[in-house]
Amino acid sequence: MAKINAPVYKNQELEGEVIDLTYQGMGVVKVNDYPIFVVDAVPGEIVQLGVTKVQKNFAFGRVIKRIRESDERNHEVNQAALTTGIAPLANLTYAAQLKFKQKQIQELFKKVHVQAEINPTIGMDNPVGYRNKAQVPVRKVRGQLTTGFYRRNSHQLVPIEDYYIQDPAIDKAIIIVRDLMRHYQLDAYDEEAHTGDIRTIMVRRGYYSHEMMVVIVTRRNKLPVAEMLVEGIKKALPEVTSIIQNVNSDKTNVIMGSKNKTLWGADYITDTLWGKTFEIGPMSFYQVNPQTTESLYSLAVEKAGLTGQELVLDAYSGIGTISLSVAAQARQVIGVEIVPGAVEDAKRNAKINGIENVEFELGKAEEKMVEWQAVELQPDVIFVDPPRKGLTPELIDAATGMQPNKIVYISCNPATLARDAEHLLENGYQIDGPVQPIDQFPQTTHIETVTVFIKA
Ligand code: SAH
Repeated sequence: MAKINAPVYKNQELEGEVIDLTYQGMGVVKVNDYPIFVVDAVPGEIVQLGVTKVQKNFAFGRVIKRIRESDERNHEVNQAALTTGIAPLANLTYAAQLKFKQKQIQELFKKVHVQAEINPTIGMDNPVGYRNKAQVPVRKVRGQLTTGFYRRNSHQLVPIEDYYIQDPAIDKAIIIVRDLMRHYQLDAYDEEAHTGDIRTIMVRRGYYSHEMMVVIVTRRNKLPVAEMLVEGIKKALPEVTSIIQNVNSDKTNVIMGSKNKTLWGADYITDTLWGKTFEIGPMSFYQVNPQTTESLYSLAVEKAGLTGQELVLDAYSGIGTISLSVAAQARQVIGVEIVPGAVEDAKRNAKINGIENVEFELGKAEEKMVEWQAVELQPDVIFVDPPRKGLTPELIDAATGMQPNKIVYISCNPATLARDAEHLLENGYQIDGPVQPIDQFPQTTHIETVTVFIKA
């Protein structure tokens, strides 16, 4: 192994001031210019740290002793949520978390030389217990089937019962399902050997409807004692309206397989969002924070400035939440989404809400956008709400090529937003008004924003 020429060595103990926070939420202590990333260290703190790992350009460390504490430290941390990375910002006060997110967007825009005003992050009143969905791995720990979460940067399961940011009713459901699985001696999945049966428990709960879906992800088609398990869940959890088995036989980190079998109840749960009813299947994306999602959509819709005359495109439309929310203020809305189950949900959702001026197409947004441009579609407003990897250059060229008045960009990753903003500006668009962060994911490092681009 080549010798590493770093100013620190493994197991060294040293004292230093935490001068920054990484985008992953780790404190930064520098020795000369060399950074040490320290778990659970808040900027402004002076810590005695132990070096745990040394690399060429940086090292990792852990706090041995906190010599001076920051005012921005939150003392009521749920330690398991912090160490597993469920809630990597939980050691910061909520006000500091909101500032951290705003600052991060500012820095990312500066890096690509795009001028933009970044508004303060809109936060939640009660930023815990907000998630309407949980996906928890099931593994054997000391011989027993256990639910929890992986330790940060590992696949080692830490047993957890209180997930801190999930709806407490969901936490409770997971314990009940786990205990039933223990009772019936079901076999937890072993990732290395690729043996065992139960891989993941997924639970989703309607914020308004309180309908609950339990999905059991198994390695094999056969789920032993399925009937007894279903009976047990129904009895202990009266909110459950849908129990589904999802089969994932692959040796993969991907959580869900493609095959779903409804063991009992409906194939979906129903919830309302912004006065509309939505049916949500197990494979469909649905915003995880129902409380802030309504602010997110109302902001996006307000910024779109629709009058009822417009042709609107909704790229990455999921189960149709944005399309159906804007339909009444538009002439026509066309959505595109890649997951077949989500497109089916979207079409059903249009029907159950009696909305007729929307269409949903199955496909890749980047390909559809090029097709739409080729047939000379003339959209007035385009919504884009892509996953973390952001937009493709082809999509941006096709979208701007159709010359809509506005492109409303809902982003869950400011790094790709900033990159795409640069491209949109090159294509003759400009940012209209401030970029607005909304805290969809309190206690985590994730950042959601709404940005409007208009023709320059
Ligand atoms: N606008 C929806 C969904 C946003 S999440 C809502 O707010 O609820 C992003 C969606 O994009 C997911 O539904 C995902 O399945 C879909 N998706 C991912 N890659 C895609 C692609 N290349 N083309 C179209 N849709 C895609």
